[in-house]
Amino acid sequence: MKPQVFAYHDPSSVEEALELLARHGPGAKVLAGGQSLLPLLNLRLARPEVLVDINRIDSLDYLAEESGWLRVGARVRQRWVERDPAVRRAVPLLAEAVRYVGHVQIRNRGTVCGSLAHADPAAELPAVAVAVGARMVARSRAGAREIPAEEFFTGPLSTALSPDELLVEARFPCSPPGWGWAFVEVSNRHGDYALCAVAAGVCVADGRVRDARLAYAGAGPVPVRLPQAETALREGWPLEDALRAACSEARRLLEPEADIHASADFRRHLAGVLTERVVRLAYRRAVDGAGGARA
Ligand SMILES: Cc1cc2nc3c(=O)[nH]c(=O)nc-3n(C[C@H](O)[C@H](O)[C@H](O)COP(=O)(O)OP(=O)(O)OC[C@H]3O[C@@H](n4cnc5c(N)ncnc54)[C@H](O)[C@@H]3O)c2cc1C
Repeated sequence: MKPQVFAYHDPSSVEEALELLARHGPGAKVLAGGQSLLPLLNLRLARPEVLVDINRIDSLDYLAEESGWLRVGARVRQRWVERDPAVRRAVPLLAEAVRYVGHVQIRNRGTVCGSLAHADPAAELPAVAVAVGARMVARSRAGAREIPAEEFFTGPLSTALSPDELLVEARFPCSPPGWGWAFVEVSNRHGDYALCAVAAGVCVADGRVRDARLAYAGAGPVPVRLPQAETALREGWPLEDALRAACSEARRLLEPEADIHASADFRRHLAGVLTERVVRLAYRRAVDGAGGARA
């Protein structure tokens, strides 16, 4: 199919883009990498009257570490994040998870912020954002605001952004010392969206888990953080008991949807299995001082 007719704008500054978004409101859509939006347009599942293409806005093309945060501008492609050794050091979970997004050709074009703004509950990067406590920087003509990742995702393909806001930057906190991170997923084929994926971080001291973060993709309408499983990891000992308790919390509390790819029960089962797998990996990396993603 072909998209419905739309007007096309490709502003060269953020101010110009914000002006267009303010003028056209809900009738406008931002075009970043187009890897999710173009299929939606072609299938007429999205019918915007106006597209605001941000690919000419050079000021959004930056990836910088600053005061303990990795700042990812809205034009940064997923492939840049995947290949940059500084990202691997600063936010190893992001570097590891981004490799699961589609295929190289998709990551060459798709942006990190586009994936976050698209907010597919089975997508990898929203789960990473929730696991590490990322913050989204949104701008409109009225000003800028920061939205914590856990408040940003409001439902399937829905976010806290209002129609006149542009997600100009995603900020990921750099991994503190003592933490290990890991990302695992199961999908039907390599490059498919996850049936279930888990992002995990554990802080280990004297062999014990002192702190933990767990977030799931494909396990609910938004990426789900599971504080009960985190508490089980923090408070349980020995590690095998803590793992058993965390996996049982994941199976008990997650409420995944059934679809043509998998039943809700199978996804719940996967969440338990993957929790154990991902925490063991993150724990080993914390103990080895390896932090996260492989080179
Ligand atoms: C074959 C295929 C397989 C894929 N597999 C996966 C996968 O396994 N995992 C996965 O996570 N994704 C997958 N994707 C999607 C891909 O990762 C997209 O790149 C990503 O979801 C959206 O990024 P984009 O830059 O292409 O955004 P676009 O497609 O340009 O935009 C997506 C949505 O976000 C909005 N948007 C984009 N940028 C902004 C912004 N800065 N501010 C406000 N709104 C914005 C757009 O208006 C649109 O609604 C796949 C895509 C394809 C085609």
